[in-house]
Amino acid sequence: MPDMQPEIPWDGPAEAPPPEPPAEPPTQEEPPTFDPSNWYLSQSTFKDYLMFRKREMCGEVFRLKNLLKDPRFERQDTEEMKAGRYFEMLATGYVNPKEGEVQPERYKVATERAKKGDLKPAFENAKKQAENFFKVLEGYGMEIVCRGKMVYDKRRRIRGLIDVIAKLPNEEGWGLFMGRAYNFDGMKVMTIPPYESCIYVDDDGVEHHGCIIIDLKYSGLLHNRWVEGGWESGMVAEDASHRIQALTYSAMLNLPFFYLVFSSKNTEVLFFRMEPRNDTKNLHMKAMGEALNMILVTEELGDFTDHRDGNLVYFPSYNRCLECPLAETCKHYERIPKPQLEYIDRIDYLD
Ligand code: SF4
Repeated sequence: MPDMQPEIPWDGPAEAPPPEPPAEPPTQEEPPTFDPSNWYLSQSTFKDYLMFRKREMCGEVFRLKNLLKDPRFERQDTEEMKAGRYFEMLATGYVNPKEGEVQPERYKVATERAKKGDLKPAFENAKKQAENFFKVLEGYGMEIVCRGKMVYDKRRRIRGLIDVIAKLPNEEGWGLFMGRAYNFDGMKVMTIPPYESCIYVDDDGVEHHGCIIIDLKYSGLLHNRWVEGGWESGMVAEDASHRIQALTYSAMLNLPFFYLVFSSKNTEVLFFRMEPRNDTKNLHMKAMGEALNMILVTEELGDFTDHRDGNLVYFPSYNRCLECPLAETCKHYERIPKPQLEYIDRIDYLD
């Protein structure tokens, strides 16, 4: 018999708050403002906050990037990232609304080229991988019930962008699919939550059973266990970033969470079921709640840029400063690399 996990407390399906009026473009006279009463913490801001706490990100960088959405901190897409967005658009029919883009011109151009068959190799691979995504869905008889949707946990004030919520056709298909996940550690017990309890309520109020969250990744780091963000079988939960996303989304929606990872170099695909323990999920959501409160208090006190106890919110580092959009004006900018102290205390190469 599979183990049944008790359901974690949850305040019902997430609903979006009322839409905000369109923001005026920021001018020099009117810098972007932060409205704490209507602010939700995302898992990516939580990750940045952890970096700030570990002194790996300056307070001002955190604040401008995450609270004020300063456009100087928007990532510049590499070719691989552009191909990834093209994959995302083909697979889910949307472009990440975080950037406020809805099929911008360059993707339309890529789509036209795809029809004509003169895509660059990177985009050609993305197109093949989007086809593979549909093959996976079809293979398991899955149906998409939601895609590219920002969901809000109003009680915890946490938001998250869900790539895909898919539904398994029936209880039998559910058992076959959920029972298929395997692990390399025979000591770990796999759980199969009941089909009827994995519910997603769509925008029309229709209740879907047998639902799972699928987060799509388009990555050049398959089988790479050595770098942050890499994807290696049996090691995915070791990566803090992968863990945080899986914990956040599975706790918010109380649904099983999967990563479906498509290689950007070839047509390889990896599929991971992330199974957090309930107490781990609860601890994680508690940590997010504490981070949310700390962020709001720190911002209110102005302590992201000017700490009362001294200058403890700038953590210059030659390599970080090189890439920082504030480099030209920041008085803490580190112009030459500092030597780091590395202790040598053993000669175990003789053992
Ligand atoms: S220039 Fe360096 S010290 Fe200044 S905010 Fe950027 S990363 Fe921090």
